[in-house]
Amino acid sequence: MAINVIENLAKIIAKFPGMGPRIAKKIVLTLALNKEKYLKPLIHYLNELNEKVHNCDLCGNIDEGKICNICLDEKRDKTILCIVEEVGDLWAIERSKNFYGKYFVLGGNLSAITGKNIEDLNFSKLISRVQNENFLELIIATSATIDGQNTAHYIVDLLSNYNVKITRLGHGIPIGSELDYLDEGTISIALKTRSNF
Ligand SMILES: [Zn+2]
Repeated sequence: MAINVIENLAKIIAKFPGMGPRIAKKIVLTLALNKEKYLKPLIHYLNELNEKVHNCDLCGNIDEGKICNICLDEKRDKTILCIVEEVGDLWAIERSKNFYGKYFVLGGNLSAITGKNIEDLNFSKLISRVQNENFLELIIATSATIDGQNTAHYIVDLLSNYNVKITRLGHGIPIGSELDYLDEGTISIALKTRSNF
C-alpha cells in the first residue's frame, strides 16, 4: 500500500522541470522520513499555493490576489508593455532589473509540436489591453526559436492597425533559446539594444 503512495507521488514529481524518476523517488523518501521538518511545512505551503496563488487577471503573471503586484505598482511605466510567452520569462526579465514597464503573458507560443493554436493563447486579451491602455511601445520578447518568432510575427500582424511602436529584443539572445534559461546580463543587453520590428 505504502509503496503505491510513494510510486504515485514520485511519478508526479518526476515530471517537474529538471527532475527524473531517481531524484523524484529520493525526494519522496526524504519527505516520508522527515515529516515534521519537510512534509508538514510542504503540505501547508502547497495548500496556500492552491488557495491563494492565481494568474493575474490583467497580465497572466502568478501572484496572490486577482491583480499581481507588478500590475498594481504605480511606479512602473504604464506606457511600455513587454509581451512574453510564459510566467518564467516574465520572472527572468524581472531578475535582470532592467525593465520597469508592464507585462503580458501569452501562455505559450504558436507551435505545431505542442499543438498550441491561436485560440489557446491570450491574444484577445492582449488586443483589448492595447485598445484600452495607452501604450507607446510593445516589446515582443518571445523565444528566439522558430515557434517564438512565428508567434512574434503573428502579434505584429494582429496589432498592425493600432498606432503603437512594436520592438523586439536585440543582441545577445542565442538562436533557439528561451528567456527563462538566460542570465540577467544577456537579458539586460537584449532589452537595451531592442529595435523596431
Ligand atoms: Zn499582473
